[in-house]
Amino acid sequence: MRVLRIREHGGPEVIRPEDDPEPVPGPDEVVVDVTHVGMNHLDVWVRRGVPGHAFPLPLIPGADIAGVRRDTGERVVVHPAISCLRCPACLAGRQDLCRTFRIRGERTNGGCAERIVVPASQVLPADGLDPAEAAALPLAGLTAWHLLLGRARIQPGDRVVILGAAGGVGSLAVQIALLAGARVAAVASTPEKRAAVRALGAEHTWSPDEAVGGARAWTDRAGVDLVVDSAGGRSFLDGVAMLRWGGALATFGATGAAEVALDLRVLFFKQLTLLGCTMGTHAELQAMWGAVRAGRLRAVVDRVLPMSRIGSAHALLEGRSAIGKVVLEQDL
Ligand SMILES: [Zn+2]
Repeated sequence: MRVLRIREHGGPEVIRPEDDPEPVPGPDEVVVDVTHVGMNHLDVWVRRGVPGHAFPLPLIPGADIAGVRRDTGERVVVHPAISCLRCPACLAGRQDLCRTFRIRGERTNGGCAERIVVPASQVLPADGLDPAEAAALPLAGLTAWHLLLGRARIQPGDRVVILGAAGGVGSLAVQIALLAGARVAAVASTPEKRAAVRALGAEHTWSPDEAVGGARAWTDRAGVDLVVDSAGGRSFLDGVAMLRWGGALATFGATGAAEVALDLRVLFFKQLTLLGCTMGTHAELQAMWGAVRAGRLRAVVDRVLPMSRIGSAHALLEGRSAIGKVVLEQDL
């Protein structure tokens, strides 16, 4: 079967098609014919490499997989991460804290292939869903769900600001915060992105330059309960400046700058909380998927490209021009 594989870090040209043997399912495993793979910013890090971090190359990329289960003919999506299911963290339901937690396409082979073998317990039903939208949801939806409901535990009436709200996680975070009864404002870089975020239900949208003043005005200078950031750098510090006394900032990425100069006096005087978030638990994925199946949560898909044009998908992600997700469709 055909697969895409990264053997060394570099530009989009390092993702090359190869022929692999057909995967053979073991006990309690199923074969999924891959129809769509959702792209995440993680894919850019895996391709480029991250200083000080070793990815287990060679690697088949692709965390978010939708396809057809060979034995039943059902449309499914695949859990984007694997954990040991035996350690104390896994047994306590915190698979996201498992020391062997690995995201598909990052620490173990992903879905940019004609077929993939996965544990039967790792597929979720996707019949009746648009398969490209389904492929856009698992990683971003789980990240947003865990961050807002598992980590920040937002409450009805809380004022939440989502930075980078037109991104894959951001657009889902806006919807999940609204489902939880929060009041939501959002920051996005272009008028088109801000219009897309308002269409999801955000009360206010601001450009990055007007965000701190906007958040102060929105709360009569009191500050907001929670800010969600994934860019780091200036964006993270702006987020801290928006918080009320006792507020929290949740971060799940550093796509802009990984290091910030934070004034610790602000942190302790205002009794702020910083929450680091990555992915989530099996129970949270099931709950998020329940909201998807009930039609309460939808992916914003910017466009669908043939899987063989994965380099163009990377260019869209690196150019930050996409509104919502970029999805690959099987053509290997
Ligand atoms: Zn474990």
